[in-house]
Amino acid sequence: MSKIAFIGLGNMGGGMAANLVKAGHDVSAFDLSEAALARAKENGCAVFATVREAVAGVDAVVSMLPNGKIVDGVYGADVIGHAPTTALLLDCSTIDVDTARKVASVAETGGYAMVDAPVSGGIAAANGGTLTFMVGGSDDAFARAEPILSAMGKAVIHAGASGAGQAAKICNNMILGATMIATCEAFAMAEKLGLNLQTFFDISSKASGQSWSMTSYCPVPGVGPQSPADNEYQGGFATALMLKDLTLAMEAARSVGANVPMGERAAELYKAFSDAGQGGLDFSAIIKTL
Ligand code: NAD
Repeated sequence: MSKIAFIGLGNMGGGMAANLVKAGHDVSAFDLSEAALARAKENGCAVFATVREAVAGVDAVVSMLPNGKIVDGVYGADVIGHAPTTALLLDCSTIDVDTARKVASVAETGGYAMVDAPVSGGIAAANGGTLTFMVGGSDDAFARAEPILSAMGKAVIHAGASGAGQAAKICNNMILGATMIATCEAFAMAEKLGLNLQTFFDISSKASGQSWSMTSYCPVPGVGPQSPADNEYQGGFATALMLKDLTLAMEAARSVGANVPMGERAAELYKAFSDAGQGGLDFSAIIKTL
């Protein structure tokens, strides 16, 4: 059992912190939201009024925050220099690679080991403890992070050095954005060509057009396994979050001069869909525009 501070107990962090408690850890929680803290308390966390109080004397700090600016601010102001230097720092938020590397480097200078450990899987996986973690950091830091992350996920993969977890996450989600749109446009065209959509699914899901977007998350209601399409595109992975990840992917592509025409087009289409007021719908709802 370890003493773990958890910062950012929103849609994802709330369930993750609860799973650390279930695994027998002693969890100190901090969030700016009173509602998030109340839920954390119900789930067995001890709640604190400041980050500094929450991280005092802990063995590890886990964060699940909205963006890189907030992660940088929280670690810079209240974690580094305030948590014991023996504490392992784990940021599970999805943020840009450069900020992840910068925060880890400042932490290392301060005497800490830190990993970036973004997740694949949504709120249901966070609640159910079935997330996949992609981890960037040294071998030693990964070895220390793995047992903590295992309490919240079904797979914990060492992606490489600092920032590699974030790099893997945005490259993966760039594939997801592009394949979802490609799958949606193929279904829309199949329908116009007079194909029965269930029949097209039966063929393409066993042929070379298959992908996770088709076989596990089919965007057509009533076709394939149960997916947000069967629930009027509610729940699932919000368009706004897909756009966030594609925007991070485009920033990263520019920073290294990568040529990503499909990713770029997916980012443009998700931006237009989000600007049309559909950011709250599951990302497979983009089929409505095709
Ligand atoms: P959320 O908005 O529900 O939760 C974020 C929490 O952080 C909120 O409770 C907020 O009050 C808190 N917070 C903000 N600023 C803070 C600060 N300075 N100090 C302490 N707490 C602060 O968001 P979420 O859906 O839980 O997403 C969290 C992260 O997980 C994001 O980086 C997101 O991209 C990533 N992610 C989300 C999903 C998903 O399906 N929701 C899936 C994979 C990854």
